[in-house]
Amino acid sequence: ALTVGVLALQGGFIEHIELLNKAASSIFSQDFAFEAVEVRTAQELARCDALVIPGGESTTISFVAQQSGLLEPLRDFVKVQKKPVWGTCAGLILLCDEANGTKKGGQALIGGLSVRVHRNHFGRQMESFATPVDLPFLAGEGNSEQFPGIFIRAPVVEEVLPHGDGPEVEVLARLANRVERAKAGLSLAVTKGDAGDIIAVRQGSIMGTSFHPELTSDARIHSWWLKQVIRGL
Ligand code: GLN
Repeated sequence: ALTVGVLALQGGFIEHIELLNKAASSIFSQDFAFEAVEVRTAQELARCDALVIPGGESTTISFVAQQSGLLEPLRDFVKVQKKPVWGTCAGLILLCDEANGTKKGGQALIGGLSVRVHRNHFGRQMESFATPVDLPFLAGEGNSEQFPGIFIRAPVVEEVLPHGDGPEVEVLARLANRVERAKAGLSLAVTKGDAGDIIAVRQGSIMGTSFHPELTSDARIHSWWLKQVIRGL
């Protein structure tokens, strides 16, 4: 049996549950007890073998988690129990040990990834964009390593920090091209995205992506991640 939770305080949790179910139906047999569940309480979290933290707004997710007493159980799940966790966009931000571009006074993070992330790296909502990204780890998941990358006020990993006695930080993907786009009807806008910017990382049981696979119908990353989770159980 495998129970995967999706943190359901704010953001794209329903979309993640749909893609987890789609991925699970393609990799597990009918009689395997797979469940993807919404997580809002410490009791719900305690039932989970692994967790996805969706995109949304990291300040809001962090605030609600604090208010509802879920922040410490989340830290314990990720950093003490070391159960598998995958964060997308805001979820990635929450899983980093340090974040730049936060509001004055910062924001409470779950932490666990020895990296510093830069929030809203590409600019404001207007500078959101979609671009194919190369994900070499998807090589076994079909005939292409290209994935539709949806970046909405997306973060990038701006620095890999010393990992102490924890596992090494693996860079799973980088932006292939500099992001330059003309805004329709507006002056030419050049965002801050540079070729080489880190957009996917993994450190031991923790994975993070800058973009939102949950806003596509492509379940390949979900399939790949579920297989990693099963392997580690
Ligand atoms: N920039 C947002 C934040 O700080 C994340 C955006 C997203 O998840 N689409 O939370």
